[in-house]
Formats: sequence, C-alpha cells, structure tokens
Amino acid sequence: SSVEAPATSGPAGGIENLVIIGSGPAGYTAAIYAARANLKPVVFEGFQEGGVPGGQLMTTTDVENFPGFPDGISGPDLMDRMRRQAERWGAELFQEDVEYVNVKSSPFTVRSSEREVKCHTLILATGATAKRLRLPREDEFWSRGISACAICDGASPLFKGQDLAVVGGGDTATEEALYLTKYARHVHLLVRGSQLRASRAMQDRVFNNANITVHFNTEAVDVVSNNKGQMSGLQLKKLDTGDESILDVRGLFYGIGHTPNSRLLEGQIELDTSGYVLVKEGSAKTSVEGVFAAGDVQDHEWRQAVTAAGSGCVAALSVERYLVGND
Ligand code: FAD
Repeated sequence: SSVEAPATSGPAGGIENLVIIGSGPAGYTAAIYAARANLKPVVFEGFQEGGVPGGQLMTTTDVENFPGFPDGISGPDLMDRMRRQAERWGAELFQEDVEYVNVKSSPFTVRSSEREVKCHTLILATGATAKRLRLPREDEFWSRGISACAICDGASPLFKGQDLAVVGGGDTATEEALYLTKYARHVHLLVRGSQLRASRAMQDRVFNNANITVHFNTEAVDVVSNNKGQMSGLQLKKLDTGDESILDVRGLFYGIGHTPNSRLLEGQIELDTSGYVLVKEGSAKTSVEGVFAAGDVQDHEWRQAVTAAGSGCVAALSVERYLVGND
C-alpha cells in the first residue's frame, strides 16, 4: 500500500498537483485515490444548506444500496467514513466554498474566501441539487415523507404498500412513478400542465399502468399531517378551476429535475443545455485538458452514490496518468 511518489508529487513552486472541488462520494473517492498515489490533493469540501460537507447524502437517513453495508448505513455516517479515509491518506481538506475558478490558463486558479490555490489539474465534483417545490412544510417532512429519489427510498417501510404522489411531467417524474409502482399501492402523478413532457414511450407506459393516476393541471400546495405528526395527505389545487382538495397519500416524490452545480466553470468548459459538464464518453475528461469531472455534476442519468464514487476513482486515476504525461 505504500506508493513511490511520482516525480510530479507535492507542490512545486507553490503549484499543487490537484485540487478537488466537492465532498460527496465523487470528491472523497477521488481524494482517497489521489492521496494514495501521493499527489497530496487539496480538497475544497464546500458546505451546503446545512452548513456541513458531505454532499447530498447528508440529507438522508438510511442508505440501503451502497455495497459493503448489508444492514444499511446512515448517509452522514457513510460520508464521515469516506472523509476520514481521505484524511488518513493525506488529503488536505478545507471546509470552504470555492468562489472563483480560472482554467483558461495553466496553472489553474481556485479561490475560496480564505485562500487562493494554483494547480496543475482540477477535479470538479460539485454534485447536483434536486429541485424542490418549496412547500411551506417541506423541511419538516424532508426524508420523512418527501423524497427526491424513488430508487433510493421507494422500498422504504415508510412508503411500501402506501398510496404515493409524484410531482412532475417529464422523463424523471414518469420514471419515478413507474418505479414506485413496484412497491406502492397506487401512485398519483401530479402534473402542472395539461400534458406530459416525457417521451412518447414513457407516456404510453404511464397511461397503460392501472396503478398510476395522472392528475393534469394540478399543483401540490402543502403537506397535510395526522395527529401523530406523520404525513397523511397533500393539499392540491386545480390550476384550471382553482378548486382545492386533499389527496390521501403517505409520500411525495419530487421528479422535477436536478440542477448541476457547474456555475463555477460556466463559459470555461463545455456544458450541455441543462448545465451538466460534458465529459468524453467513458472518461472523466472535460473539454479543457487537465480538468476532470466526476459524480452528479456530469451525470444526469444514474445519480447514485456508488456511480459517483466510481467516477471519482476514474477522475483521480486519469489525473495521475495526465501528470506523468502518460495520457
Ligand atoms: P454531491 O453528493 O452532490 O456532493 C457535492 C459536493 O460538492 C457537496 O459537498 C457540495 O457542498 C460541494 N460543492 C458544491 N459547490 C461547491 C463549491 N463551489 N465549492 C466547494 N464545494 C462545493 N444515492 C444512492 O446511491 N443511494 C441512496 O440511498 C441515495 N439517497 C439519496 C437521498 C437523498 C435525499 C438525495 C438528495 C440523494 C440520494 N442519493 C442516493 C443520490 C446521491 O446522494 C448522489 O448521487 C451522490 O451524492 C452524488 O455524489 P457527488 O459526489 O457527485 O455529489
């Protein structure tokens, strides 16, 4: 497990080998691999809404599908383990948000409110943020009835055998609704518009599924709870008539998309029309040499902790190859 330092190891002339931005599964996995390769990576962990590093899994309770944890593991516990593993191998961690990046000339510049770092390579692992409806009682029921990931939470005892609602009319929402029919008693798809935006094939699957009811021109207004403080329904509003009603459901899934956190590099590397970083297929390479991307910021399709970790590994190994000129 001891690795000889490559010639490029360590800061030379104040220039770091590698800066990693982000502290989700992608960022920490990249940090573990790069640190073990003696690249002495500098990690800007950032902090999100709760003011803590660790990314999206800090907002969830049990993660049941990360390999190696047969009894499940809490999201914060999993992220703490990844963080400690990165630290143990010598990654330098700063709990700071990056405010400015310049990759137009090499070495690259990365700046937080506390420091400015020059580096030869950069891994962008800033993740994505699930879009929320901002219902008045959303925070109260987040992870206790409201979820943004059917694959992650659909099989949870909280939702199994229950009537559930999914919000959205595009591919994400229809996929979530279809997925949830495996576990739920019935799924209500709440669509603001008067038609679905999903592909024709997905629409057919939804309309042909007896366990899904589509409600057009319908908006969720707020969560309704029972006297035990559990979610017992949703207050709905019909946008065409203004009528309000209560729908009895025990869970609400958001399928209204994600926002990739790629703003830092907007105008400097190629992004797709939704803002996801474009990487060369099957690699972590972006349109700028020496800049790599991993995790949800470059993945609108799979969005899982294990796929984010896998792509973090690929990014770190790519950096290693790039630095020894073996690319
Ligand atoms: P993220 O986890 O999004 O982390 C990105 C990091 O970058 C954050 O730490 C953020 O603070 C940081 N960052 C952003 N901008 C900056 C900046 N300017 N400067 C510094 N840092 C910055 N997946 C599963 O496989 N199983 C599950 O059970 C599961 N449950 C989930 C439950 C919930 C509620 C949510 C929201 C997601 C869940 N997911 C689950 C999906 C999983 O969390 C993501 O796929 C995964 O976290 C993506 O990892 P990432 O490293 O790409 O980014």
